[in-house]
Amino acid sequence: MKSKIQFILGAITSFIVVAILLYFAVLLSSEQTRENLGNRFLCSGQPCNVIFILADTLGAKHMGLYGFERDTTPFIDKFFGEQGIVFLNAWSNSTWTLPSFASFYISQYPSSITVGEILKPKTISFIDVLREAGIRIRAFTPLVPDVEGICDPICLAATGRFKLDEIIRSKDDLQFLDVVQWVQDQKQDSLLSKEPFFLFVHNFIVHSPYNPPESYRTLFDAPLTYPGSVTGGDLWLSNTGKENINPQEVERFQRQYDQELRYFDDLLKDFFEQLPQEVLNTSIIILSADHGEAFGEHGRVGHGGSPYQEELHVPLLMKIPQTQPRIISQPVSLLDIAPTILGMFNLNSPESFLGKSLVSPVKDIDIPKMIVRAETTRGGPLLADFQNLDSTNSIITNQEIAVRLGKWKLIKKLEEILEVYNLDIDPGEQRNLILQWSSLTKIEQSAILPLFHELGLGLPVP
Ligand SMILES: [Zn+2]
Repeated sequence: MKSKIQFILGAITSFIVVAILLYFAVLLSSEQTRENLGNRFLCSGQPCNVIFILADTLGAKHMGLYGFERDTTPFIDKFFGEQGIVFLNAWSNSTWTLPSFASFYISQYPSSITVGEILKPKTISFIDVLREAGIRIRAFTPLVPDVEGICDPICLAATGRFKLDEIIRSKDDLQFLDVVQWVQDQKQDSLLSKEPFFLFVHNFIVHSPYNPPESYRTLFDAPLTYPGSVTGGDLWLSNTGKENINPQEVERFQRQYDQELRYFDDLLKDFFEQLPQEVLNTSIIILSADHGEAFGEHGRVGHGGSPYQEELHVPLLMKIPQTQPRIISQPVSLLDIAPTILGMFNLNSPESFLGKSLVSPVKDIDIPKMIVRAETTRGGPLLADFQNLDSTNSIITNQEIAVRLGKWKLIKKLEEILEVYNLDIDPGEQRNLILQWSSLTKIEQSAILPLFHELGLGLPVP
């Protein structure tokens, strides 16, 4: 009997010990995950830095993570694909630099922004909010204003929301070295080393002219001879008449673009190898682009002139310390970048922001389905777009609009021409469902209906 009591007492004691151990285990585990599940973003117990890399003209369709067949982005695929947050369906809100930048800085659609506003904004940009909150800000870009703060419209778009002393001129191929140097300088200052920073890293490595380093010019089984770089003029000439685009020339353009992308991927690999580990442990990394690039998919090469996926679909990749990898297929847009970055600094967005913070989906919390919208200038930017700096004109002229909800995409072109695509089964946008509207089921038609409403249109009459 005594041994039985001892057994029972022993069992109770063991149970209590196990319960206490379990309690502390749960406590410890919740402590470890609280950084990701609570209301505040913390990285290794301290406020996170954010490093936002914006690769001008980087189209998602050319990257392995997004299904491209060439080995253009082995490092990005591994770094973000295995350990990061992958947004499969992110859109830029326009298809060329000026409106796209202006849009994401103030989280509003390009058609509501005038060029003058970029320089003298009536509305608040996320940079303004960061500055107000005392976050250290640095922008690295090849485009910088002169000493009086004057620059052309593209430069204005890229840097207009930063103060002169927040910008560091940085050539494309040396840019990441400059960033590493800046970070190391900060680390040596014990006061600064504990304050969070926001770094904006903008480069034109994959933008035309396509001029990959010599050692990259034989990549991708290139049988074509490359006499030199492909210039913006080459691309412009290709667009002067749809039927004049020579498919072999377009293939040549694309291979050089892909070679440059591989070069960018290698630079990025070197960058993350050189960045101090403690900075990686305390920094959120975001990689995206202001628009993609076309290679004849819809009769154009380059960017800025059409609302199709090759120009709109951009990468949106995040690497967040102590956060599980996740793939998010819900469409989002660059309009959401500004509120997301503010959320990562635990800051609220101004009421004027139209984008939604992506902090919730990053934390594995679903967000409601959203309509995303992009606006572009048919045929590409016009000279007039650059001459209206002080005007109240929209930065988008000859506007064409694309809206997306889930797999459905509606395009409204000039002259009220409409196109509808099911991107799940027709990602190349080759079958305009408007032309076979009556063949869609009632469920499909009603799923597309919100897109027509978004553009103030009724459903098509069969
Ligand atoms: Zn651009």
